[in-house]
Amino acid sequence: MKVIVVGCTHAGTAAVQEIITHHPEAEVVVYERRPDIAFLSCGIALYLNGTVTQLDELFTTNVKTLEAFGANVKFELEHDVLDIDAKTHEISVQDLGSGRITTDKYDKLIYTAGSFPVVPPIQGVSLPGVLMCKDYNDAQRIYETAKTAHSIMIVGGGYIGVELAEAYSHTGHEVSLINGVRPLLSHYVDASLANLVRLDLESHGVQMLLDEVAMKFDNDGERVFIQTSKGERYADLAVVCVGFQPQTELLRDQVAMNADGSIHVDDYMQTSDPDISRLAMQSLFTSIRPAKMPMRRWLQTRCAKVTRGSQPVR
Ligand SMILES: Cc1cc2nc3c(=O)[nH]c(=O)nc-3n(C[C@H](O)[C@H](O)[C@H](O)COP(=O)(O)OP(=O)(O)OC[C@H]3O[C@@H](n4cnc5c(N)ncnc54)[C@H](O)[C@@H]3O)c2cc1C
Repeated sequence: MKVIVVGCTHAGTAAVQEIITHHPEAEVVVYERRPDIAFLSCGIALYLNGTVTQLDELFTTNVKTLEAFGANVKFELEHDVLDIDAKTHEISVQDLGSGRITTDKYDKLIYTAGSFPVVPPIQGVSLPGVLMCKDYNDAQRIYETAKTAHSIMIVGGGYIGVELAEAYSHTGHEVSLINGVRPLLSHYVDASLANLVRLDLESHGVQMLLDEVAMKFDNDGERVFIQTSKGERYADLAVVCVGFQPQTELLRDQVAMNADGSIHVDDYMQTSDPDISRLAMQSLFTSIRPAKMPMRRWLQTRCAKVTRGSQPVR
């Protein structure tokens, strides 16, 4: 049986490890558009605040280690999957180095293409000094820019924004967090707990700009100006973290989806097409986290393992 895996961060890596362990006879081909695999975004804040000193420590495994497990695994890095035809079981792929486009066939497809950060439709969001936070390159850019920055504006009060504000409250930076109309951490905790988080951040010197919406960015070559619903703010660096979108366009109209692009799966992560599985890190956590362990502790355990440089996440 030939299995194609599209995308290889947490979910893709876990899928490959499972196949190698339980179906060593299977032929596996992994297509990943990045030059690396298995980067742990959850650890970015630990890198930015200096707990993790080398960004490369945030890779949970690598191609060599995984290939050493099984003879039948091939990694095609810097390869972008352009199209998936669920009827013919064929995909087309572009080698990002040469530009060459080829096709490949699968018996089973594991779709682990993850998500991409929401870029809000705000003027100036692509200017220098206004950065997103998702992958290895983003982490590197934020780290380098923050080295010479005194003030940092975090835009977005979800868990990533809060985590970054917390991280930079330990580094001597002047930190502000701006969060629009929704309450802080509104997707995750109730108002009373969110309020405790707010107080805690404030007690660490973070300026909390709540009920305030970022509307435009500008840059004079030295500072970023943020036009908001309440006036003008400025900072040396702005990090925008206003949510993520599932990256599922390649399967649109081919498997059952919700309006937001998230894919319907059963308990075995199978989509409405029996030969396509969709795996994402969140679902993976839910499926293997010990039933009685709170999610927060489970994640902490995993992060702690990575920061101690232990074995690949399983
Ligand atoms: C700053 C930050 C902190 C976080 N902290 C936590 C946390 O504490 N706890 C937690 O549970 N989660 C956390 N997350 C979320 C977590 O990182 C994601 O849920 C996780 O990365 C999802 O893993 P994934 O493998 O499903 O997808 P992704 O990590 O999004 O990986 C998808 C991969 O697919 C590749 N790809 C996409 N499309 C194609 C294509 N067409 N062809 C080839 N390759 C493709 C991409 O290049 C990428 O490498 C955090 C995220 C961020 C950004």
